[in-house]
Amino acid sequence: MKIKVAKFGGTSMADAQAITRSADIVKADKERRYVVVSAPGKRFSQDIKVTDLLYECFHKLEMDGNFDSSFEKIRERFMTIAEELRPDLDMEECLDEVKQGMYKYGSTEYFASRGEYLSGRIMAAHLGFAFVDAAEVIVFTAGGEFDAAATRAKLKKKLSSVKYAVIPGFYGADESGLIHTFSRGGSDITGALIAEAVGAELYENWTDVNGFLTADPRIVEHPAGIKELSYRELRELAYMGANVLHPESIFPVRAGGIPINIRNTFEPDNKGTMIVPEITDARKNNTITGIAGKKGYSIIYIEKSMMNSEIGFARKVLSVLEYYNIGFEHMPSGIDTLSIVVADSEIAGRQEILLDKIQKTVNPDHVEIKDGISLIATVGHGMSFKPGTAAKLCGALATAGVNIRMIDQGSSEMNIIVGVATQDYEKAVRAIYKAFE
Ligand code: ASP
Repeated sequence: MKIKVAKFGGTSMADAQAITRSADIVKADKERRYVVVSAPGKRFSQDIKVTDLLYECFHKLEMDGNFDSSFEKIRERFMTIAEELRPDLDMEECLDEVKQGMYKYGSTEYFASRGEYLSGRIMAAHLGFAFVDAAEVIVFTAGGEFDAAATRAKLKKKLSSVKYAVIPGFYGADESGLIHTFSRGGSDITGALIAEAVGAELYENWTDVNGFLTADPRIVEHPAGIKELSYRELRELAYMGANVLHPESIFPVRAGGIPINIRNTFEPDNKGTMIVPEITDARKNNTITGIAGKKGYSIIYIEKSMMNSEIGFARKVLSVLEYYNIGFEHMPSGIDTLSIVVADSEIAGRQEILLDKIQKTVNPDHVEIKDGISLIATVGHGMSFKPGTAAKLCGALATAGVNIRMIDQGSSEMNIIVGVATQDYEKAVRAIYKAFE
C-alpha cells in the first residue's frame, strides 16, 4: 500500500471545527497513514498561537516564578477543543501532567513543544490512530543538534510496526529524554523527515492557502497560483521570502525524491502547488514560475583600477566580512568593481568600521555603502530555454522607469536577481509580473 504523510499546520488545528476538517481529509484517503500536527494556531487575526502562549508561560516562570494565568489560557483552548471533539479523552489530566513537566524540566524548549504534544493527543484520539510521541523518534544530540541518521533509524523501526499514527511536529528529544525543538514553523520538518523515512509516495502539507502564488498578493492583484514547482525553484523563491513552507523541510524529501503537495484545509478541492524533483516537459514552455523579493539590503560598492588582475582581491574583502561575522547574499563583479549585497540587519551600526577595515585591507580607490536596496528574484527553469528573458525583464523595468542598481543571473540560468531602490520595489514587481503574465 502506498503511503502519504499529511502534515496539518496551526490554522488547520486551531479549533474543533478546523480539526474536524483536517480529520475528514485524513479519513478520505486510506493512504494518509502518518499524520503530523502543529500546535493550535490563530483562530482569527488578533488571536495568539498556542506556541506563543507557551513561550509566554516560560517567560513568566523566569520573571515571576509563576505562570498560572498564562497557562489558564492554554488550558481553556485545549479544554474547549477536547470537550467538543473528545469528551472521553481526559484532557484535564493531560494538561496537569504537562504543567508538572514544565516545573520539572523548566526548559524553554520543553514548554514550546507541549502545544504539538497536546494537539497530537487530540488528533490521535479523534482519528482512532496510534499516538507516537516525537520524543521517541525525532533525535537530537545532548547539545541540541538534530541527528538525522539516528532519527531515520528510529522512525523506520517504530513506524514499520504502526500502520496509522499521529506524530506531533516541531520537537524531539536527546538520549536522556530532554526535549529539543526545531526553529519556528518546524513541524514542516518533522513531516518531511517522516515522509523520507517511510519512503512515502507523497508529502502533503495542509495549510490555509492554496499553495504558492506567482507573486506577492499584497503587491500584485490576484496573482495566479503556481501549480508546479521544482525543489530548486522552491529554494530560490523561499530564500527570497515566499514563505509557505519551512525552508529546511525541503532537504529530507528532496533526498528521497518525494514530491510535496501544498494544500488548503479550507479548500480541499483545490489541488494546490505540487513541488517535484524535475519539472514536467509541458512546463518547459513557461518562461517564469514566480517572482519573490525582499526589502532591506545594502550594496558595499568597491572600485579599484586593475582590481581584475589583483589575485586574492575578493578573498581579502570577504575576509573582512568574515571577521565581522557578516553574511552576504550576492557578489556581482565588473572589471574594476565589486558589489557585495548584504542585508541591512547584518551591518547595522557597523558601517563605519566596515568601510574603514575594507579601506585598510585592500586599499581601494573608492568604497561606499549604498543602502535602501530591495532585491527581486524572477525564477523559472523555463528561462534557461528561452533567449531574451533578461532583455524582457530589463525592458519592463525601463518602461516602468525603474533603474536597475544591480543584476545577477545565476549560472543555472533559472533565476535573475535585480536590485532596485526600495521606493521602486512594488512598481518593479508589478512591471515584471505584467511582462511575463
Ligand atoms: N508551533 C510551532 C510554531 O508556531 C511549530 C509549527 O507550527 O510548525 O512555530
